[in-house]
Amino acid sequence: MRDPRHDILFTPVQIGPVTARNRFFQVPHCNGMGHGMPLAHAAMREVKAEGGWAVIATEECEIHPSGDVSPYVEARLWDDRDIPALALMCDKVHAHGALAAVELTHNGPTASNLYSREVLIAPSHQPAKYGYPAQARAMDRTDIANYRRWHREAALRGMRAGMDIIYVYAGHDLSLAMHFLQRRRNHRSDEYGGSLENRVRLLREVLEDTKEAVGHRCGVALRFATEELLGPGGIERAEAQDIVGMLAELPDLWDVNVAAWYNDSVPSRFAREGAQEPFIDFVKKTTTKPVVGVGRFTSPDTMVSQIRRGVLDIIGAARPSIADPFLPKKIEEGRIDDIRECIGCNLCVSGDMTITPIRCTQNPTMGEEWRKGWHPERIAPAASAAKVLVVGGGPAGLEAARALGQRGYEVHLAEARRELGGRVAREARLPGLAEWARVRDWRLGQIRRMQNVATYLDSPLTAQDVLDFGAEHVVIATGAHWRRDGYGRTHGEPIPGFAGHPSVFTPDDLLGGTLPEGPVAIYDDDDFYLGSVLAELLRRAGREVFHVTPDDTIASWSANTLDYRHIQWRMAELGIEPVTSHEVVDFSPGALRLRHVWNARERTLPCASVVVVTSRLPDDALYQALLARAADWADAGVRDVRCIGDALAPGLIAHAVYAGHRYARELDAPPAGEVPFKRHFHSPRETDLRRED
Ligand code: ADP
Ligand code: SF4
Repeated sequence: MRDPRHDILFTPVQIGPVTARNRFFQVPHCNGMGHGMPLAHAAMREVKAEGGWAVIATEECEIHPSGDVSPYVEARLWDDRDIPALALMCDKVHAHGALAAVELTHNGPTASNLYSREVLIAPSHQPAKYGYPAQARAMDRTDIANYRRWHREAALRGMRAGMDIIYVYAGHDLSLAMHFLQRRRNHRSDEYGGSLENRVRLLREVLEDTKEAVGHRCGVALRFATEELLGPGGIERAEAQDIVGMLAELPDLWDVNVAAWYNDSVPSRFAREGAQEPFIDFVKKTTTKPVVGVGRFTSPDTMVSQIRRGVLDIIGAARPSIADPFLPKKIEEGRIDDIRECIGCNLCVSGDMTITPIRCTQNPTMGEEWRKGWHPERIAPAASAAKVLVVGGGPAGLEAARALGQRGYEVHLAEARRELGGRVAREARLPGLAEWARVRDWRLGQIRRMQNVATYLDSPLTAQDVLDFGAEHVVIATGAHWRRDGYGRTHGEPIPGFAGHPSVFTPDDLLGGTLPEGPVAIYDDDDFYLGSVLAELLRRAGREVFHVTPDDTIASWSANTLDYRHIQWRMAELGIEPVTSHEVVDFSPGALRLRHVWNARERTLPCASVVVVTSRLPDDALYQALLARAADWADAGVRDVRCIGDALAPGLIAHAVYAGHRYARELDAPPAGEVPFKRHFHSPRETDLRRED
């Protein structure tokens, strides 16, 4: 039964002519599938509707080829032929009693037109933000009239597709409606530039056009950025207050957040739940229309507090709905402990950035709903009475044990250490990463309630132990360790002076509690988060820290998770010196010799110690020992032994969780073939969605 304190979350809200059944709103989010994979996209949105979200929105939806955001794959309503793909989503969403929303946008100078090859348009002449290093041309009055017409026609198409809510988008520095507001992008001297009233004119007109076109059937939402955190060069709260005041009652719904995307979906390392409140809290005081906002909300108490304190009317979520599409249902049924809370790692963002289907660290079924038929809550029952031994209680082993347990297998999970969680347990102790422990905690919470899953701590198993155990299926998830010799992307051979040196440390040493003497150089050839987190750990412990990388920038891959800028700011704030474009020549006590990768000039850093973040090796000794004893398996009753996660090939936590889940899904399942998932084809026979007239 639901906690009565949470009742308010389940009261309906009127959004213009439509009614949201509760206060849970899946705000627009990218997913790397979009118009390219409409069946996969619709299935992903469907599970959210099934999970209880009252409104399910698309990602950005292009309205015209001159606002083409390729190579990113978002939604598209260029003409009527794009309607069926979105109708598919609407049908699936409606089948579960939810409303469908589409976020219409023309991205102006922040489009690319890489596919359409149209000339970019903008409020004034200016460089393109993405795509080729070209410029966007200033829109004349005809262009403005055309833009309004495209938006209106796209709104009508959205309505015909079955959308219940049509968005006007003025957020994330990504749409013309916002670009006209921004002084730095709008240098016009006509009635669309200069004074605030003039800069707001186009947004007002587009809102009025949309209301006039579809307002009788659809709610009209305005997604609006209240702060860009750029100082006077950007939209600031004071100006945003005036804008909200000017448009207060025009939209049926205000969807408010902070721009740009990296300030909106901030990783948990840099922002807590509800962090946007100081930037958006004025909106509800200025309008009588409902207000939705985001803040990586996973706690129902926080959600209730947002509503009770008059900050928001509706709880918006992208990441919490990705990590747990069934979050609203679980609150409704009083199953708070079952909520699979988002950890704020932003790996979901990397799907959009790498133009591939969305993935999630916490929810391995995300993006696999259609192509693999994976449901976030349901899984096939066990197909045999087999007993399964899982060795290693990191993310791979924990997820394998949990999902096998959910299927009903008899599962035994053995872990060498005194705690479960593997790398997640250790990394979550690093500065800013505490929420990552949710990967362990959710799985542990589930496993503890399963009678058919037994866990054994302090149990380092040998091959003989495994054979003696008498399980038919054995899955080895024993993890990996960081190399000390510097081998990695840059160095194809061990770095002279590294291996075996007492002042050369690995991340595992630091995770185990060792803090090297300063000054210390982090040698980062991994390019993601860990180098910077260890630099932060050491700096906070009072060490002088150099962050050395052969790459031209620190943590380059973290651009895919929106950490990048936050990492640079944090390193600068802490006084951690970046030493980029340098590879290591050798290390001797007190001196780390470096060579510039472009000009070959050498320099020496005065370092007492070095931390090597270059690559890892699987801890697969147990697996190899079992393979060597394959002849003994049959007598021991062992049918198969599989190695998964970091023990097979070190990767991200998301890879390990996915590997554990996949193992559990595939046990006793018929072979899926060489291509183990469904794909979209352009053939007219496959679907009429893509048929050209
Ligand atoms: P992954 O990310 O693949 O799950 P982790 O390194 O996070 O890998 O976790 C692996 C876990 O396996 C660690 O907690 C480690 O202590 C445990 N482990 C390693 N070798 C053994 C073993 N022989 N028996 C039991 N547990 C082991
Ligand atoms: Fe949250 Fe990470 Fe999943 Fe994104 S990938 S929804 S940030 S847990």
